[in-house]
Amino acid sequence: MAQKHSVCIIGSGNWGSAIAKIVGANAAEKDQFEDRVTMYVYEEMVDGRKLTEIINETHENVKYLPGHKIPENVIAVPDVVEAAKDADILIFVVPHQFIRRICSTLLGKIKPNAIGLSLVKGFDIKEGGGIELISHIIARELHIPVSVLMGANLASEVADEMFCETTIGCKDKVKAPILRELIQTSYFRVVVVEDADSVECCGALKNIVACGAGFVDGMGLGDNTKAAVIRLGLMEMIKFVDVFFPGGKLATFFESCGVADLITTCYGGRNRKVSEAFIQTGKTIEELEREMLNGQKLQGPITAEEVNYMLKNKGMESRFPLFTAIHRICVGELKATDLIDCIRNHPEHM
Ligand code: NAD
Ligand code: 13P
Ligand code: CA
Repeated sequence: MAQKHSVCIIGSGNWGSAIAKIVGANAAEKDQFEDRVTMYVYEEMVDGRKLTEIINETHENVKYLPGHKIPENVIAVPDVVEAAKDADILIFVVPHQFIRRICSTLLGKIKPNAIGLSLVKGFDIKEGGGIELISHIIARELHIPVSVLMGANLASEVADEMFCETTIGCKDKVKAPILRELIQTSYFRVVVVEDADSVECCGALKNIVACGAGFVDGMGLGDNTKAAVIRLGLMEMIKFVDVFFPGGKLATFFESCGVADLITTCYGGRNRKVSEAFIQTGKTIEELEREMLNGQKLQGPITAEEVNYMLKNKGMESRFPLFTAIHRICVGELKATDLIDCIRNHPEHM
């Protein structure tokens, strides 16, 4: 019999815990995967107990995904090297600001022929004025091939087993069916495309647009204005991929990772919610993240900053007026009421 694939999930936040429910069930049920799945948990104390102990005893991540059982074959491990060292498939699902440190800890400690799947939405800045995709960072730092999974997948709804779709971006025709087998369920449907960089850009950039949608909600500007922000956001996403990651397909934007994720995040996501409160309360994004999210992390404002770092360096802010205005509102350089003036003469209208 062919060797079974062993799986490790690196991350255990809201989405990490929801995907652990799916991956744990598939690994237990399917012969090609080892039943035991390890899950790296960033250790913290919850009500005087270690979170890893709570998860291993109650099979529930009481802090980041309360009310949902994680299968018993998923084992919470506080040491990332211990969790990852025997895995053939490494699923990365941490907030993007933590990825570099995790990679440096894992360097030289994983199986050389392991493969990665990144669920991380975001970029990182690189020296010289550019930005880098998270999957490229993992691939370069750990010397493994890395595919991506992005889609309209609010974690709590996935954990409730409500029907949705997702997109896997994988260039390897042999590995793609293995990843699909590990992820797909009757309620979580997978489409695989080869255009992985576009898939990943969609997942990162839609979080910026979601902040804009939250500003519109906070100002009470109505559904038409919000639809305009979403559409202009989509056009800037398409242009961004065209300029910085050329060679992608327009069709990718019509997969779950594109328009569908944009819609769900601009209506039901954390970035939208906190951005709305930012307008209504006058508090900073950091204060609201602490007050409203109980340890969960926002990706939109830092992604807007990373993208702006590159656009500014390349003299391209005026070609991306929505992304630029959202960043400047987040950091207090512009008032939210200036948002509409910034997009009134959008290049799409010329
Ligand atoms: P989260 O925001 O719910 O949780 C934060 C996590 O970060 C916790 O597990 C916490 O323990 C961990 N953490 C805190 N400090 C840390 C440190 N110094 N080092 C390592 N880990 C640390 O996380 P999430 O929702 O699982 O998000 C992970 C990724 O998944 C993000 O890129 C997000 O955009 C993406 N995503 C989230 C959803 C969703 O609905 N939540 C859906 C799709 C994709
Ligand atoms: P938020 O981080 O804004 O909640 O978005 C979650 C998401 O990526 C849904 O696909
Ligand atoms: Ca099995």
